[in-house]
Amino acid sequence: MSTVTIHPTVDSGYRATDASFAGGTLVCNCTTNAVKVKVKGDIAHNHACGCTKCWKPEGAVFSVVAVAPSSEIEVIENGNKLAVVDPSALIQRHACKECGVHMYGPVEREHPFQGLSFIHPERFQERGWAAPGFAAFVSSIIESGYEPSKMEGVRSRLKELGLEPYDCLSPALMDYMATWTAKKNGVLAA
Ligand SMILES: [Zn+2]
Ligand SMILES: [Zn+2]
Repeated sequence: MSTVTIHPTVDSGYRATDASFAGGTLVCNCTTNAVKVKVKGDIAHNHACGCTKCWKPEGAVFSVVAVAPSSEIEVIENGNKLAVVDPSALIQRHACKECGVHMYGPVEREHPFQGLSFIHPERFQERGWAAPGFAAFVSSIIESGYEPSKMEGVRSRLKELGLEPYDCLSPALMDYMATWTAKKNGVLAA
């Protein structure tokens, strides 16, 4: 067993991905009047993220974060407890003011990710969501105070878990963003 911890759901092994998973309800950490957010479809691009902005559970080095179309997201209970963490950020992370869990983060401004919302699938009360497929912004964990000399161990542990480590997003997502920009600029046919 590796002593390098990544994230509780990653470290302990997650349930196998259920191909028929079609969304569910995200619940915050409050024991009373929990915020509930319905996701009416499957999630995509689930990954571990080392950036300093994503919400992480207590003690986690990485977050686990995925996207879903914003049109499929609906706050169904206690939405009055939500507040945007940083209104100037690309991702408008809506967090519970009491427990701090980020419930959903839509991208509203013009950007390749416009129309998508970032969510943390571990908050689903249901099981079967797609397992994370890669690790993004790995070097950024140093910005949260992680010891730089231990990075090699982190990267080899991520590879062992099947989470290819990248210091930005995955090549597929970087290509997706570059394609959007090229089409917007007329360099590629739209
Ligand atoms: Zn809460
Ligand atoms: Zn992140």
